[in-house]
Amino acid sequence: MPAPPAYRVRRALSRSELTATLNAVEGAGNTREILAAVVQHLFGALLTAAGDALANYGPDRTLDPSEYAIPAPQWNAIASACQGRADAFGTRAEIALELMNLMPDSYDDPTVTVPLRPTIDHRPREHVLTVTREATDVIAAASAYCDRLAVAFGSSSREYLDAVASWQRNVSHLFSMGFGADTRVSKDGELNLLVCSGSGLVYAIVFHPDQRRCTRPGCQAVIDDDGRAWTYRPEDPRCADDRHEPSYPLDVPAPGTWSLHS
Ligand SMILES: [Zn+2]
Repeated sequence: MPAPPAYRVRRALSRSELTATLNAVEGAGNTREILAAVVQHLFGALLTAAGDALANYGPDRTLDPSEYAIPAPQWNAIASACQGRADAFGTRAEIALELMNLMPDSYDDPTVTVPLRPTIDHRPREHVLTVTREATDVIAAASAYCDRLAVAFGSSSREYLDAVASWQRNVSHLFSMGFGADTRVSKDGELNLLVCSGSGLVYAIVFHPDQRRCTRPGCQAVIDDDGRAWTYRPEDPRCADDRHEPSYPLDVPAPGTWSLHS
C-alpha cells in the first residue's frame, strides 16, 4: 500500500476561520474575488498554523495546494459556497474548474461538523433574454419541423420523439441561468440558434439531420434529397442494380436531433 501523502498542514479550520472564509466568499464581487477569498482566508489560516504567511508567496514562490488538507465537510462547505456565489456571475462551471486546481486536499473526519448556514440564492432576480426577430422565426420553424416529423413518421415514432426531446432539452437550457443572467439569441441557420451568454460563453444549438442511407445489405450509398446516390469512396460497395432502399423517404423532412456546440 502506498504511504499516505505527508501534508505540510493537515487540520480542521476553527469555527471562526471557516466562518470568515465562507463570509468572504459570499461577499465576493466577481469570480476572481471568490478565488481570492479562498486563498486569503483558507490558505491564510493554514499557513499561519505552519508559522508561515501568504505575504511570503508571490511569483517567485508559489503555493502548492496539495501540501495542505482540511476535513471533507469543511472542504464541501467552502466549495459549494464558491459555486453558489458564482451563480451571481453565471460562472458556476468556471469556478468548479478553478477550484480543482486551487483547493487543498480533503480527508474524512466524522467528528467535524459544519454549522448550518442559511441558503442564499445568489442568482440575479431576472434572466434577461434578448431574442432577435430572426431567432423567433427559427424557434417557430423548429417547432413546425417537429410537427412535420410527427405527420411523416407518426407522433409515437422514434424520429419524432428524438427530435422533439432534443429541441425541448436545448430550449430549456436556453432559459437556465447557469451561464449568466443576460443572454442574447440570434439566428444561425434555418433551424439553428446562436447563443451569447452573459458570462461570455458563446454556443450554438444546431440541428443535425440524419444521413439518408441505403438499407439494403452491404450497400454503403448515401442518398440525397433528389434521389441521387453516392458513396464516400468510389470503391465502396453499393447496390449493383442501383435500386437503393432509402432509410427514410425522399419527400419527408429529415429526421435528426438538436445538440449544443460551444
Ligand atoms: Zn443501395
